Amino acid sequence: EITQNPLIRLILAMLDIFIDNWSYEAVFRYLKTGLAGVEKQSIDLIENYVLACGIRGSRWTRDGKWDWSTEFLPSETENNSDSDLEEINLVRDKITAPLLAFRQKTKGSRRAVDICTALYEFLEHIDVPRQIEKQIEVFRGKGQLNLANEYTQIWNILMHVLDQTVEVLGEETMNIAKFAKILKIGLDEYKLGLIPPSLDQVLVGDAHRSKSHEVKALYILGVNDGVFPTAALEEGLLSDQDRAVLKSLGLELASDTRTQAFDEQYLIYKALTTACSYLRISWPLADSEGRSLRPSMIIPRMRKLFPRLVESSDILPPSTISAELELVTGHLPTFQHLAAKISRQDLKAESKTLWQEVYHWYAGQESFQPQCEAFKSIMAYKNIASPVSPAKILSLYGNPLKTSVSRMEKYASCPFAFYLQYGLKARERKVFSLSPPDIGSFMHKVLELFSREMAVGNISWRTLERDWCEKKIEEIIENLLARMNGRGLSSSPRMTVLMTRLKRVVTRAVWVIAEHIRRSSFEPLGYEIAFGEGEKLPPIIMELESGQKISLSGVIDRVDALKTEEGTYVRIIDYKSGSKDFQLADVYYGLQIQLITYLSALTGNCLPGVGDPLLPGGILYFRLDDPLIRTSHQSSEQQIEEAIMKQLKMKGLLLANVKLIKAMDKEIQGSSLIIPARINKGDVLGKSSTATPEQFSLLQKHVYSLLKQLGAEISSGQVEIRPIKKKKYTACQYCIFAAICQFDPRLKENKYKLLPEPQEEEIWRLLDPKKGGETVE
Ligand code: SF4
Repeated sequence: EITQNPLIRLILAMLDIFIDNWSYEAVFRYLKTGLAGVEKQSIDLIENYVLACGIRGSRWTRDGKWDWSTEFLPSETENNSDSDLEEINLVRDKITAPLLAFRQKTKGSRRAVDICTALYEFLEHIDVPRQIEKQIEVFRGKGQLNLANEYTQIWNILMHVLDQTVEVLGEETMNIAKFAKILKIGLDEYKLGLIPPSLDQVLVGDAHRSKSHEVKALYILGVNDGVFPTAALEEGLLSDQDRAVLKSLGLELASDTRTQAFDEQYLIYKALTTACSYLRISWPLADSEGRSLRPSMIIPRMRKLFPRLVESSDILPPSTISAELELVTGHLPTFQHLAAKISRQDLKAESKTLWQEVYHWYAGQESFQPQCEAFKSIMAYKNIASPVSPAKILSLYGNPLKTSVSRMEKYASCPFAFYLQYGLKARERKVFSLSPPDIGSFMHKVLELFSREMAVGNISWRTLERDWCEKKIEEIIENLLARMNGRGLSSSPRMTVLMTRLKRVVTRAVWVIAEHIRRSSFEPLGYEIAFGEGEKLPPIIMELESGQKISLSGVIDRVDALKTEEGTYVRIIDYKSGSKDFQLADVYYGLQIQLITYLSALTGNCLPGVGDPLLPGGILYFRLDDPLIRTSHQSSEQQIEEAIMKQLKMKGLLLANVKLIKAMDKEIQGSSLIIPARINKGDVLGKSSTATPEQFSLLQKHVYSLLKQLGAEISSGQVEIRPIKKKKYTACQYCIFAAICQFDPRLKENKYKLLPEPQEEEIWRLLDPKKGGETVE
């Protein structure tokens, strides 16, 4: 295909840039031809930036430098250094200068001659003639005469098409889209003629283009209905009628569809009669997606004409040893069969012996040594991640090994994914969109700022007014967007819509939090309380038997407290943008240990201004959402609000203490609307997610020992490909590293770590040494 040549692709993609309004696809198709005069590294750099910021259209051509942030949150998460942006802007200028110069000369409706001249000047501007000449020299130097010949022809064809366009349509005015269409039609008309490299040869080609004579054997592939002969013949720019009129006026044009149909028949006749000794016709029964395909109409005709014709199908693999022996033919094809056969587990003993013998033959051939070596290493390959050396682990994580609790959860779900993400820092290429984690961090930030403003203004959650909330949140979000470098992601219409939704969700969240606090006797003690080095609370330091230390850090979204005679009860609240359920089994397996570890970090320390001791009151997830609910037409405002509250009920584990639960929800009657608890008649605890103080302590001890165990595995360099599987859920489901780990459960060495789901009583028993469970220091 002439249009597949880099030069032609460059021109067509360049025209598409203006037709598609600087779409990502057109711009990078143009740049990646290698002829646009931009370094590959620079293309990669700008491509990452363009993708991350969603740049298209007028953003390419607007005045001023690009200064958008690729991150959604301003300041601390900024990842484009100034020098990167400087370079990106230089590359952008280099790319746009010749394109804009061309556009200047061709904007609107222009004469074909002017567009052709501008196109030639554009090619000179980016130095294409010299680059092509150089390329031809390189091909010649390497003895690739076919390619050298192809490039020479392409250049000449292009010049010829431009000359013809000027000659025929020179004075006609047209826009760039029409010009591109004419140019493509003109180029499509040309076929490359390549000189056969020698006389004794195998030619592979399109039936329409193969004009060889004296072919000894001919294989025709793809003899399917609609393909051979072609079903749909297009009229092109001019209809058959137009052509007939023009012909009657003496203007010779390409043939009409009727003539083309006759030509097609002639072509089939020629193809079927070219071979002098052997003809083989084949057709697939299905396409690559499994859709069935019919044989061409010439097949039944051939069957009728030659009733003794031999037909065979290779759909079923040969099942007899003699059929397999027939696969042993030339050196290369046999080696390919060997590779396919020997890796199969289900070979019969007879076949196995045959292919082993074939392999030994190759192993004895000098010329096949490299292939046999590669073959041996492939056969011996196991998809296993070997442990990383202690020195490397030390340089990756340091001593003490600093990590966070959520990262430990990642390790528990798959050590290899943890290693890739936090050890090697592998990241997905950022594409312009707000991913769920981005949205989550944004909402967290807004809530944090809102809570901070309340604390500064000494405003109580109990007396909040809805209008004030709405106004404040709007202000905070606007402020965040304004602080964003160049207002990158925020300035598109799509983001404006998303922002409106986020404002609504955060306002709802704030309102529900206020309602939770109004209904309880607990008071917020702090927001975004961080523990770790240099933070309000010290990190959790664990010393392993090896002497290595693990330093754990984290941030607690909110802590509420209630002062009582026994001490101060605290409950930890974690804001989640998705719906997260609390599962005791997940805590047991280390998959949900954040909240219980935060509780340990808190109850193991003194918070300024709080009397000792701090007692565990509960751990809860709060869902940030503004859910849609089903109600009847007659539902009152209050009923709707209650239904929403029910949907946003917190999940987690509470202290099994009726007094405390009543303090968390003063209005509780039966099932609580805000916490996972139920109080039955007579103040008896009903079906609730609760634990006794002893059980809280057992859980904390278990998690601590689990963290130590995970820490020991990380520091010893264990990076196994070992994802967990729990019922239908697997750690691989949303993992972005599948292409790297190549985990395949069909391989003997790749197996899931299966996690059974014990009942809650069983888990409490397993945790309790008095009931025969684990003993933890
Ligand atoms: S895809 Fe599965 S096995 Fe591979 S790294 Fe991710 S979680 Fe681990």
